[in-house]
Amino acid sequence: MTGVPAGAPGLLRNYVGGEFVDTGRTFAKLSPVTGEKVFEVSEADAATVDAAVTAARAALRGPWGRMSEGERAAVLRRVADELERRFDDLVTAEVADTGKSISQARTLDIPRGAANFRAFADIVASAPTESFTTTTAAGVKALNYAVRKPVGVVAIIVPWNLPLLLLTWKLAPALACGNTVIVKPSEETPSSATLLAEVFAAAGVPEGVFNLVHGFGPDSAGEFLTKHPGVDAITFTGESATGSAIMRAASDGVKAVSFELGGKNAGLVFADADLDAAIAGSVRSSFTNGGQVCLCTERLYVQRSIFDEFAEKLARKASELAFGWPADEATVNMPLISRNHREKVLGYYDLARAEGATVLAGGGVPVFGDARDGGAYVQPTVLTGLTQQARTNREEIFGPVVSLLPFDTEDEAFALANDSDYGLAATVWTRDVGRAHRAGARIDAGLVWINTWFLRDLRTPFGGVKASGVGREGGVHSLAFYSELTNVCVELS
Ligand code: NAD
Repeated sequence: MTGVPAGAPGLLRNYVGGEFVDTGRTFAKLSPVTGEKVFEVSEADAATVDAAVTAARAALRGPWGRMSEGERAAVLRRVADELERRFDDLVTAEVADTGKSISQARTLDIPRGAANFRAFADIVASAPTESFTTTTAAGVKALNYAVRKPVGVVAIIVPWNLPLLLLTWKLAPALACGNTVIVKPSEETPSSATLLAEVFAAAGVPEGVFNLVHGFGPDSAGEFLTKHPGVDAITFTGESATGSAIMRAASDGVKAVSFELGGKNAGLVFADADLDAAIAGSVRSSFTNGGQVCLCTERLYVQRSIFDEFAEKLARKASELAFGWPADEATVNMPLISRNHREKVLGYYDLARAEGATVLAGGGVPVFGDARDGGAYVQPTVLTGLTQQARTNREEIFGPVVSLLPFDTEDEAFALANDSDYGLAATVWTRDVGRAHRAGARIDAGLVWINTWFLRDLRTPFGGVKASGVGREGGVHSLAFYSELTNVCVELS
């Protein structure tokens, strides 16, 4: 595949201080589509992680550390240009790792990667800092102003569901603020991050600014990185339980953390909604990317007067979503990331039945009669008949499955949405403008969408409440995490 570093066909390597590094120890990356091995990946050991931290610290003191915000913004724009030049290679990498449809990779994943670099180039170049003139009680005058500085060496640890999109969402602001980084992509999606090393080199980013280590979490690259004393801050996207483990590791050395974690997102469909739009939107919000988006809707509350009609129509649409090979433009459904993850999701399909669910659509594994039977596919699944307290309605499944429950009143709908350990996103379908604004004020989630889903402006705050995250990124909120402010006080009198 293009993107495999030259001279090492089939082996994806670590990238440290501007050099590709093979540790001699490898793990296999399997195709979610067929189960066959697609790559060998070089697993970083503790010494490689240490070398990456040393390279990143050295680069802070080099030309990168002396650039102005405008100069760094120009570098970020060159990275975006280079990313677009390698567009087809990145699409190939992302599809090979995830099994997602080529059309989604072309229209969402890779364009968003370039957009992240351009957005944060603009944001950092125009970010204001504070200044105040002060007069003390004794009549002494002073000027106070804040200087924005990098935090230092930032560890970026990301999951497999939208690999390039989620990585660049953190990488672009971290670099925009002048930090140097060590990236650890998911063991399930090593390819696009490896290609990024080539993108950075071609864009003229100084050695050691971008470093990459491959591996797993516990007792591997992830843990070596989070426990390393030379790392100043950790930004992480992944499961809430992993967030807890990383927070414990970060407590030694009191490293700053930013966490984007799991969700059990609610959708609310009121009887006054545009029903066709609500159904089409709910199909997207529950089944996009095989339901493997942290923002996907897994709990859908529907007002009782339209419940049966809505459930029947949603189930029909879910059954009609096209299974195909990733290269087929018409393909919608994609496999889960791995057989392991499929075991987890199928376990929830079984649990739902045991908890009394009626399965209106899906509930099993599709049979293709070809190589895809070796992959990790499941059917998009629509459930009814579960209680609010059922485990199926409380635990994040992270697959193409949605559970429908009825409600009667607006107050009840908001209470049901809030009755969760998680609080990442909610989607509300209504034509009542007052209700729409009440939803934004009363639903405990970092994001509330009204009559849409997944629509993002990169300048807006992004993150979750409760077990769904710590902090906000996006726009100036990212700058707050990835930079330190020094206040300078100059006496004027
Ligand atoms: P995960 O937590 O298993 O792994 C995420 C990353 O952390 C991987 O790179 C993994 O190798 C690493 N890791 C695992 N254990 C570690 C440890 N102890 N120390 C350091 N690193 C460790 O998550 P996943 O299965 O890859 O991704 C799915 C999860 O991500 C879901 O819960 C989903 O909701 C969440 N997610 C959240 C957002 C968001 O923005 N809130 C976005 C996407 C995905």
